[in-house]
Amino acid sequence: MISGLLALSLAVVSRGERRDGLRIWAGAMGLESLAWALIAIRGAVPDVASILIANLLMVAAQAMKLAAVYEYRGLPWPRWRCLLPILLMCIVIAGLDYDDFKHRVIYGSLIYAAQMWMLLEILRTDTESQRGRAWWLLFGATATVIPIFALRALAALFGTEEFATLGSTVAPNLIQVLVFVCVIALDILGSLGFILMEKERSDFALRALAMTDFLTKTMNRRAFTERAEQEIAMAQRTGSPLALLMIDIDHFKLINDEHGHAAGDAVLVEVARIIGASVRKQDTLGRYGGEEFGVLLPATDQAGALVLAEKLRSAVESMRYRVGRESVSVTISTGVTVCQATCTTCRSDLNQLLDDADKALYQAKHGGRNCTVVTPAGCAIPLVRTPEFRSG
Ligand code: GH3
Ligand code: MG
Ligand code: MG
Repeated sequence: MISGLLALSLAVVSRGERRDGLRIWAGAMGLESLAWALIAIRGAVPDVASILIANLLMVAAQAMKLAAVYEYRGLPWPRWRCLLPILLMCIVIAGLDYDDFKHRVIYGSLIYAAQMWMLLEILRTDTESQRGRAWWLLFGATATVIPIFALRALAALFGTEEFATLGSTVAPNLIQVLVFVCVIALDILGSLGFILMEKERSDFALRALAMTDFLTKTMNRRAFTERAEQEIAMAQRTGSPLALLMIDIDHFKLINDEHGHAAGDAVLVEVARIIGASVRKQDTLGRYGGEEFGVLLPATDQAGALVLAEKLRSAVESMRYRVGRESVSVTISTGVTVCQATCTTCRSDLNQLLDDADKALYQAKHGGRNCTVVTPAGCAIPLVRTPEFRSG
């Protein structure tokens, strides 16, 4: 009943052109609820329906769940892994005497357990970052079903004949009933896990979208600010210096005016790519404004920050940027500030740090552009300027 309702709700919400496995999972739950219904009305319907058809429906449902997880992962459904268990179940049904409940329970249980194992195998290939709580719910529920089916097979092997017959002629066997109740409960938990995995994944994708600048694919201002707060806190805890670079493309308006906005966009993307490729893994690049980028350099002192700023400046300067049929060159000006570990006045907050970098950038612009100016945090007077690095 619950499986049926879940299947119905899933089928409704997963309507449309989706390729996330939800529709297949809904189909699997639909088959499962039919199978459970047939098992529940055993005695009232011919055994061929309540045993043979129910078994087939159950195996088909597990195969569909496997296909759903593959689709969720963007993989084509594994034909043999899905079809072989169904084929085996057909062979078991056809090959055994109709009254041979014992062997049917044993082989049936082993086939289900193998199907659960295949589901676990594909789930196990998810990376750590893909394993949210919902993933653990599905994984845990699936993993728990395996020993239950193994025990059911053992109980049928060593138990009495009544156990295997599930009371078609005698009262329902307690272990069998317990097995079914547990499996139904775990089924529902696993299905909830799969549905919530979809939600976790879309939450994650939305968050990534909300943190990314759509044009340059670097962090946007919000994400950059958040990261900067974390880096400042970390620098203060560890006592290591933190450098902030504010980079602004020189005379960028001219590119827009002379070559059009689309060309300006292309230059922005390329400059972001060059800066991104030149910073270290532990550094953070973000688009702070229109043609302004911020770079955070953890554990970097003034000398180190200056070296990196100059590396970026010459990398951007030495590149030709395609704008339609022509190509142009651009330069950047950079304001650098360093939150010193040893200086208590420099243990400033983010606003102070940004303010200092901005002032240094202003100095760089007024000093003729295509240069780097460094100022220590909390100090408005430029400490180091780099005319010796200026080209031309
Ligand atoms: P300066 O050397 O003093 O920085 O001069 P500038 O021309 O670079 O600076 P200004 O602030 O005068 O102009 C910045 C220009 O950047 C104006 C704005 O239209 C353009 N811009 C901002 N965001 C984008 C964008 O996403 N795409 C494009 N193509 N242009 C942008
Ligand atoms: Mg500019
Ligand atoms: Mg600007």
